[in-house]
Amino acid sequence: MDTVRLHVRVEGLVQGVGFRPFVHSLARRMGLAGSVSNDSAGVTVEVEGARGSLDLFLRLLETEAPPLASIERIVSREQAALGEREFVIARSNGRADERTALVSPDMATCPDCLRELFDPSDRRYRYPFINCTNCGPRFTIVRGVPYDRSATTMAPFTMCAACAREYADPTDRRFHAQPVACAACGPQLSLTDGRGHELADDAISGAARFLREGRILAVKGLGGYHLAVLAADEAAVSRLRARKHREEKPFAIMASDLQSARCLAELTGGEARLLSSPRAPIVLVRRRADAPVARATAPGNRYLGLMLPYTPIHHLLAHELRSPIVLTSGNVSDEPIAYRDADARERLDVIADAFVTHDRAIETRTDDSVVRSVRGVAMPVRRSRGYAPRPIGLARSLARPVLACGAELKSTICVAKDHRAFVSHHLGDLENYEALRAFTEAIASFRRLFDVTPAVVAHDLHPEYLSTKWALEHAEAPLVAVQHHHAHVASCLADNGVDERVIGVAFDGLGYGTDSTLWGGEFLVADLAGFERAGHLATVAMPGGAAAIREPWRMAAAHLDLVYGADAPRLAVAERNAARWPAIVDLAHAGVNAPLTSSMGRLFDAVAALLGVRDVVTYEGQAAIELEQLADPVETGAYPARFTEEAGGFELRTADLVGAIVDDLLARVPTPAIAARFHNGVARAVVEGCRLVRERVGIETVALSGGVFQNVILLDRATDLLEADGFAVLRHRQVPCNDGGISLGQAVVAGHAADRA
Ligand code: ZN
Ligand code: ZN
Ligand code: FE
Repeated sequence: MDTVRLHVRVEGLVQGVGFRPFVHSLARRMGLAGSVSNDSAGVTVEVEGARGSLDLFLRLLETEAPPLASIERIVSREQAALGEREFVIARSNGRADERTALVSPDMATCPDCLRELFDPSDRRYRYPFINCTNCGPRFTIVRGVPYDRSATTMAPFTMCAACAREYADPTDRRFHAQPVACAACGPQLSLTDGRGHELADDAISGAARFLREGRILAVKGLGGYHLAVLAADEAAVSRLRARKHREEKPFAIMASDLQSARCLAELTGGEARLLSSPRAPIVLVRRRADAPVARATAPGNRYLGLMLPYTPIHHLLAHELRSPIVLTSGNVSDEPIAYRDADARERLDVIADAFVTHDRAIETRTDDSVVRSVRGVAMPVRRSRGYAPRPIGLARSLARPVLACGAELKSTICVAKDHRAFVSHHLGDLENYEALRAFTEAIASFRRLFDVTPAVVAHDLHPEYLSTKWALEHAEAPLVAVQHHHAHVASCLADNGVDERVIGVAFDGLGYGTDSTLWGGEFLVADLAGFERAGHLATVAMPGGAAAIREPWRMAAAHLDLVYGADAPRLAVAERNAARWPAIVDLAHAGVNAPLTSSMGRLFDAVAALLGVRDVVTYEGQAAIELEQLADPVETGAYPARFTEEAGGFELRTADLVGAIVDDLLARVPTPAIAARFHNGVARAVVEGCRLVRERVGIETVALSGGVFQNVILLDRATDLLEADGFAVLRHRQVPCNDGGISLGQAVVAGHAADRA
C-alpha cells in the first residue's frame, strides 16, 4: 500500500475554537497517524496514511470544521512517511506564537450544550453559563492577548476539578474552552432590584413570573443589558416605550424557537437559516398580519426584527415562558447600551422593575447584529455580536498596517495589516459621548488584540466628523483623507475580495464631496487607489441644513421649488406644513442656510413627504424605510430616468421623477403604486447611469454601496436590471453598505495609498 505523509498548514481562525480536537478525532476515525499543533498563524498537521484517505481527510478538514472555525487557507506538501501508528495533539511551539491567533466572535449556544442544559442527569442541568469550544462568549470577555482564560473576564473563577479535567482533555468538547464553568465553580445568575437585593431564589422562574405579571426586566446578555417585556402585552410594551423615551423605532423580538418565529412572520428559507445560525442576528422579516405582538412593538412597520435565544439564560427563560418577548437594548433613547453592572443599575433603574444579572463581567459592549436576507444571502445592516471581530480577507496584502477611523453615524473603526482587515463592532453615533468613548477604546483594544501598529491613519474628508478630529489630534502616523463615497465603493470591493476598477454607485444620506457640495447620489469610476466622479443626481438645496434631515417635508418643498418654481401645484404636504412652507421655499430659493446636495437619501425623504408617509422623522432613515414598506410589490411601472450632460459629469434629472410623482398624485393614483414606480425609476436610473459610464470606459462590474441600498426593493430591482444588461454586480455581504462599512473602505484605500508612497 502506498503510504504518504503530508505536512498541512491551516490558516485562519482556527485557534481556541476546538480545531485541534476536531483534527485529532477526524484522523483517529480515519485510521491516520501523525500530530496536530498550534503555530504562529494557525494550525499545523502532520498526517500519514493511504493517499486516498489523505485526500478525503483534506476535504473533510474544510467541510466538517467546527462551527467557530473560519479557514482562510490550507497548504499541504508531501514528505517521506515515518511509519507512525498514533495520532496525537502535540504541544504548541511557544506562547509568544499565539499572539497572532485570532479572537473569535461570540457564538450562540450549540446543540450539544443545549441538550445538556435541559438534561436532568447532566451536571450542568439548567446552568445558565454552559458553553464549550463550539459556543459561548469570546470577543466580549477578552481583555488581552494571548487568548487565555487569565486574559478574559473569567479570570476570577477558578475551575473545579471536574471542569479542569474537561479543559485539559484533548478528546473533550471543552478542551481549552476558556469560559468553561459549572454551577460549582462558575458565574451565578441572580434576580435583583435596582439596589442589588435578591428577589427570588430561582432567578429564571422569578424572572418569568415578573414578565408574566407585565413587568419590565433588565437582562444581562453577552454584550450588554437588554430590556425585556412580554411581546403580546400591549400595556407593558407601551410602558417600556415611554420609559425608554423611544418614540417609534421598532423593538426587536426574541421568539422561543424557529417554530414560534413562524407564527410571527412569513419566513423565507434564507431568513430561517439566518435566524438559527450560530451568529444569531436580528433578522428583519415581514410580519404576519395575525402576529400575536403588541401594536407598540413596531408601530406602522410591516417588518419585525426577530431573533432566537442565543445564550443559556435566554434558552432557560424561553423554555419557562414559551411566548415571545421584546428584547431591546438597555438604554434611554439613543445612548449606547449599558454593559457595566454599576452603570446599568444606575441608568436602567428608572426603566426596569428588576434585573436578571450575573457576576461575569462584560469587557466589550456589543449590540445585537441586524441583517436582512437578500436572495438567500445575509446583508448586514448592523454588524456586531456574532460577527465582530471576524477578519475580512483582502484580495491583496497591504504594504503597511492601517488604522481607519470611519465615519460619524453608525461608527466602526478598522485596523488592517497583511491580507486581513478587522472591522470593529458597531460603536454608535459619535456625537454621543459614550459612543465616542467606545470609539477610542475600540481603537486601543483592536490595535492590541490584533497587534497592529499603524503606519498610516485614514479618516473621512469631512472636517467636522469627530472621527476626523480624533485622527488629526491623535495620529502618530501619516494621515490619508478618503472621500466618503469612494470609501463606500472601496468597502464594497474589499467586502467581495475584489481589487479592480469598477463602476461604483454610492447612494446614501450625505457625505462630504471634493467640491463644496454634500454628495450622496454618486456614479464613480473607482478602484482601491482612486476614483473619478462620472455622474450624480442633480443638486438641490437642503433648506435649513441639518434641519432638513429631521424634517423631510423641507426636502419636498425644495424639490417642488426646483421643478415648478412659483407655479407649484398645491399639494397635501404644503397644506400640512402651511405655516412654515413659504419661508422654507424662500430659503431653498435664495440658497441661504441651504447647502446643495446630490443625495439620493434626501430624494427618498422628499418623496416620502410628498406621499404623506412622513413629514418629520424620529430616527435616521425612517422616511425611506417606510416608503419602501409602502411600495406595492407587484407594480411594474417606472418613472423616467433621464440624464443630462454637464461640465462636471452627467446629472440624473430628479425633476423628471418628482414631476411624474406629482402628476400621479394629482391623478389620484394610489400611493403604494406611486412608491413602487419611484423605486423602479431609481433602479432604472442606476442602470442608465452605469450604461453611460460603460460606454465611456468599458467597465462591466458595478459595486452598489451606501445606506440607500439597505432598501431591498431597490437593491433587488437594480441588481436584476443590471444583470439583464450584462453587468456583474457586487453587493455587501460582510459589512454594512451604510456608514458602518466606511472604515473598511478607508483602510483599503489608505493601504494602497501607502503602497504607492
Ligand atoms: Zn457548546
Ligand atoms: Zn466547574
Ligand atoms: Fe454614507
